[in-house]
Amino acid sequence: MANNIRRIWDADPDAAPKERQSFSDDVVGRFRSGRLVKMNGKDVPESLNEWRVTTGDPVVAATISELLGGVSGEWETDKEDNLQVLTDSATVAIIIEPDGVDASFKQFAPGAGLVHHCDGFEFLSPEEDKGQPCKCPSLVAERKLQADKLRGPKPSVDVKFRLQDAPDAGIFRFNSGSWKLVEALGPLFTELDKHAGKQVRATLTIENVRYTPQKGPRAGTEVSYNKPVIKVLGALEAAEPADLAKAA
Ligand SMILES: [Zn+2]
Repeated sequence: MANNIRRIWDADPDAAPKERQSFSDDVVGRFRSGRLVKMNGKDVPESLNEWRVTTGDPVVAATISELLGGVSGEWETDKEDNLQVLTDSATVAIIIEPDGVDASFKQFAPGAGLVHHCDGFEFLSPEEDKGQPCKCPSLVAERKLQADKLRGPKPSVDVKFRLQDAPDAGIFRFNSGSWKLVEALGPLFTELDKHAGKQVRATLTIENVRYTPQKGPRAGTEVSYNKPVIKVLGALEAAEPADLAKAA
């Protein structure tokens, strides 16, 4: 959603708010755990071991470089977040906004657009189906199986947060289609509910998982994949004085 980073007053300088702090409630950048790379002329998704951050704001890019390492540069996009930083960090200390984690499931069909949009239990849209049972399987593993066969929706988890070390830089977004993250949502929402309505300190990590299956077609071959992990640390006001000094 490039609109999130668009500053509507760009087109009309007279409409610009006078105070720079108005920026700080905008979504100013996106954390991404992958990118597209060209292979034989085709765009192929590549998963990354460290966070990649995209933004349209050079000040935000500089803040990210300073805190998480990496240099900022342009990348090929028709969206407005034309700057990216390939950071050196797999973990970032974040402050999750109240109600900052949102999960939904969506299925798109060629020519028909969005044909299934639910929370895993009930339809979220269109308006006339809202609240009706969507009949998705209750087990995440079964939902994934259906989605793999193009018979069910895929997850979209959206996290809105600030950086613990630069809360005034603005709000960042991480959107993920990871089933591993969906599996972890139950415990995550339980933790977040303990601090309902408050900002919550957490870490957001790209975790590498490696294992060697003992059975099945890939027996004896090491399997490696990355998954995003969110770990809740506590409510922001319960933070250590050092944390608060940093946030001030
Ligand atoms: Zn559903």
